[in-house]
Amino acid sequence: MACTELTMDSPYVLELIKGGFSRVREDILQCKNCILHETVTNKVISKGSESPSVVFIGEAPGKNEDETGVPFCGRAGKNLDEMIEYMGLSDHDYAVINTIKCRPPENRNPHVTEINACKVFLLAQISLLDPKVIILLGNTAEKAFCRGRKLDWGEAERTDEGNMTLLKIFHPAALIYKRSRIDEQKSLIDKNRHLWE
Ligand code: SF4
Repeated sequence: MACTELTMDSPYVLELIKGGFSRVREDILQCKNCILHETVTNKVISKGSESPSVVFIGEAPGKNEDETGVPFCGRAGKNLDEMIEYMGLSDHDYAVINTIKCRPPENRNPHVTEINACKVFLLAQISLLDPKVIILLGNTAEKAFCRGRKLDWGEAERTDEGNMTLLKIFHPAALIYKRSRIDEQKSLIDKNRHLWE
């Protein structure tokens, strides 16, 4: 599969990995690599286990997340919590991170330059968390991993390195305004339960 760009071997990514979660956190807090640092209130780094079997990757912080520094704490977060419960995961089974760590103004989609600027942190987080399964919540997370190539919704694929499985499902925010997607999302989850059970 020509998907995933999980190359953890750039010097800065390796340095971050060596420094562990605290170094990643410190560098994110100091980061001015893209214009989003000018308008951010709180950078949003992660929540959940530090040794999960499943990592969810969202898009970018929204208003609530920017105010609190906690990922997925608004309405979309409620949907994600329900999804996690439906998946049967307990607290130590999963972690949640975002593709980029600062809120884009007016919740616009992140620009490619911003995704690329933030990618070192994403790679370091994935390497440190070392999950069995990476769940891409929608297209932005996919864009960060797949360099324009599309995964099919709900079709699990191995990463190039072969040590992790990638799965793309709907972003929880997409379920807020399109409730019919909830059943569709449950089907995607049911089809892939064997990945984490
Ligand atoms: S979005 Fe990422 S790259 Fe941009 S300033 Fe925030 S932490 Fe740095």
